[in-house]
Amino acid sequence: MMGAGTRSQRMNFGGFDFGGNQGQRTTSRRRTSQQQPKPEDLDITMTLNVTVKDIFDQKPITVKFNNMERCTKCSGNGGYCSECGGTGFKSEPKSIKVKLPPNITEGQKVRIKGEGKSDSYGRKGDLYLIVNIKDKEYEVNGSDLTKEIEITPPEAVLGTKKEIETLHGKISIKIPPKTSSGQSLRLKELGLPKKGGGYGNLNAKIKIVIPKNLSDRQIELYKKIAEL
Ligand SMILES: [Zn+2]
Repeated sequence: MMGAGTRSQRMNFGGFDFGGNQGQRTTSRRRTSQQQPKPEDLDITMTLNVTVKDIFDQKPITVKFNNMERCTKCSGNGGYCSECGGTGFKSEPKSIKVKLPPNITEGQKVRIKGEGKSDSYGRKGDLYLIVNIKDKEYEVNGSDLTKEIEITPPEAVLGTKKEIETLHGKISIKIPPKTSSGQSLRLKELGLPKKGGGYGNLNAKIKIVIPKNLSDRQIELYKKIAEL
C-alpha cells in the first residue's frame, strides 16, 4: 500500500515534473540559442575603397563580395549534391547597397548586420567593412581636407583670384601676393561633415607650376628678372 502510494505520488510528481521540465527545456533551449555566441567565422571582413565625394554625397555605395549561401539545388541538405560538393553551401557573388554614416573616418569599421556567411543552423554572420579613403583630389585628415591649387610664378608674386571646385560647390579664392609653394589657405567649413555637427576645413595648398609652353618673350623677361 505504502509502496503503491509512493508510486502514485511519484507518478503525480512525475507528471507534474514532466510538464515543468518541458517548459524549462523550451526556455533553456531558447536561452541557449540567444546566449550562444555566433561563431566568428561566419563574419566577413573586407576593405571598402571610397572617395571623398562618396562620403559627402551620402549615396548608397555598391559593395560586391563572395558569400557562402545555402545551396539552392539541394536546399542546403548537402548529401550527394554535386553543386555544393555535399556541403549544402556554395560561394555566390553578392552585391549589396550600403549607406555609410556621414561622419565616417579612415580605418573605421562599419558593421552590416546579417550579411555574413550562413551556417546549417540558419545563423548568419555580419559583414564588416573597413573604410579606406582613396582620393586623387583630396588628402584627408579626419573631416579636414587638403587640395593642391596650381598657380604660375607671376600669380605667386603678384597675387591672384582663383575659382576652385569644392565639395560644397565652386568658390573664388584670393591668393595674396608673394605666396610661396606649400603655403596653405584655410577655407573654413568646406570639408567633410564633422562628428557633432558642422564641417571640417578645406586647406588650399599652393603649388607653383611653371607653364610648359613658355614663349621666347616670357623667357627674355625671366632673364631680365634674373639679371636684376
Ligand atoms: Zn547542394
